[in-house]
Amino acid sequence: MVKIFIDPGHGGGDPGASANGLLEKDITLKIALQLRKMLQENYKDTEVRLSRINDETKSLTQRTDEANRWNADYLLSVHINAGGGEGFESYIWNGDYRRKSSTDKLRTTIHRTIVKQLDWRNRGTKEANFHMLRESKMPAVLTENGFIDNAKEAKRMKTDDWIKEVAEAHASGLEAAFDLEKRPDLKPDQETFYRVVCGSFQEHKNAKQRMNILSKRGYDSFIDLYIMNNKRYYRVIVGSFRDKENADSRMRQLKKIGFDCFIDAVRP
Ligand SMILES: [Zn+2]
Repeated sequence: MVKIFIDPGHGGGDPGASANGLLEKDITLKIALQLRKMLQENYKDTEVRLSRINDETKSLTQRTDEANRWNADYLLSVHINAGGGEGFESYIWNGDYRRKSSTDKLRTTIHRTIVKQLDWRNRGTKEANFHMLRESKMPAVLTENGFIDNAKEAKRMKTDDWIKEVAEAHASGLEAAFDLEKRPDLKPDQETFYRVVCGSFQEHKNAKQRMNILSKRGYDSFIDLYIMNNKRYYRVIVGSFRDKENADSRMRQLKKIGFDCFIDAVRP
């Protein structure tokens, strides 16, 4: 189990940097919430905690206290840069401490993954005496994700796609740094559905008629267009199942009352 503490920078009475109609505190929160969702949904053995989940004022000490009390394995503080520039940079504590080289190693992996995945201008791996990095007992990183006062970057920051991309890049970085294992059961594109086809007609009205008959017998159905050898067929589908057994059982019921059916396996 890897415990990751995510700190969306600023919040409440502290907006952080602001420009182009944006507040840093809002963007960092969006990225953090999205990142939490991605980590929880896509990775095994990963526990996530946030320093804030809404727009609240929280001191830096409260934040590091929480991470330390929770005994997090890693602390990630998410920020947006300002002051004229472009691209991505990351920080670790500049002090002299026992785990500095391992902290830097984790950071470098995350940093490289993010820059590569987002094709971002690389502003480099840096060190600073920031509270979040210094007062946390676990290895910690602070990421500066683009410049809020750069019109081009700010425009992108306003889109959900950008938030998702940045969160995803952080998730990939953490995956690489901590060797997180992806959940195998969450690939909807690889799932097969078993559809019970109860009639295939060249005339739409005949398919509609079949639907009505099925409805009278208590079965809901829908019509799906199927094209074979340049011919259009209207198929009446009476149920779509993830389990083949359930599709088989539906087909048996329908056959019993006189409908000729077959099962079609589809991969959406
Ligand atoms: Zn900040």
